[in-house]
Amino acid sequence: MSFIVAIDGPAGTGKGTITKLVAEELGLINIDTGAMYRCVTLDIINKGVSLDNLDAINEILNRIKIDTKNSDGNLKFFLNGIEVTNDIRTQRVNELVSQVSHIPEVRTNMVNLQRKMAEGKKVIMEGRDIGTNVFPNANVKIYLDASTEERAKRRYKQEQEKGSNITYEEVLKNVVFRDQNDKNSSVAPLKQAEDAILVDTTTLTIPEVKEKVISIIKEVLK
Ligand code: C5P
Repeated sequence: MSFIVAIDGPAGTGKGTITKLVAEELGLINIDTGAMYRCVTLDIINKGVSLDNLDAINEILNRIKIDTKNSDGNLKFFLNGIEVTNDIRTQRVNELVSQVSHIPEVRTNMVNLQRKMAEGKKVIMEGRDIGTNVFPNANVKIYLDASTEERAKRRYKQEQEKGSNITYEEVLKNVVFRDQNDKNSSVAPLKQAEDAILVDTTTLTIPEVKEKVISIIKEVLK
């Protein structure tokens, strides 16, 4: 039987980091659905396909192969056999991924894949619509949030660590743009599921959020 922990919330709430840490501690399979949408976006960019060319996008979806490998606690992503762990986090992908993820064909395809990946497994799956759409009956639903400025600050720090020279203002603009796109989408808009537990991470450290999430999961497992 599957056991599903759904972690949803906007960009920059620490979803990725927290999900990874909780997965390690509780022995759950970590599925990063944002990275899956990023892989589709990268394939579209690499093949020079325009976002209104649905035939070409369907062709990409029919052939796409997305694999993950866990190496020393870090998730590596492979698109059609080639490692793209860093390539899916570029500014170009950041700018396009929201639009790509709202193409209904892309969504249907990825949601089916996500459901298949979790079949019979114990997983922690992070994204935007896991508790509302992908697994409305998930065993645990958590919605991570934080103020817009705090989320932009965290993303900016990540960019700096990567050696990028993007400014804070540009990061903030991208966070606001993606929030708007994700929340106002007609296809699976980002929103907290009614039965999800809200964790506001604005003033919490990573270890504090991790402990909170683990205690919520353990409460359900009791
Ligand atoms: O989580 P991350 O920032 O990597 O996600 C990238 C983008 O993918 C989000 O801005 C959102 O547009 C899209 N996404 C989505 N549904 C998910 C996960 C991500 O639409 N379940």
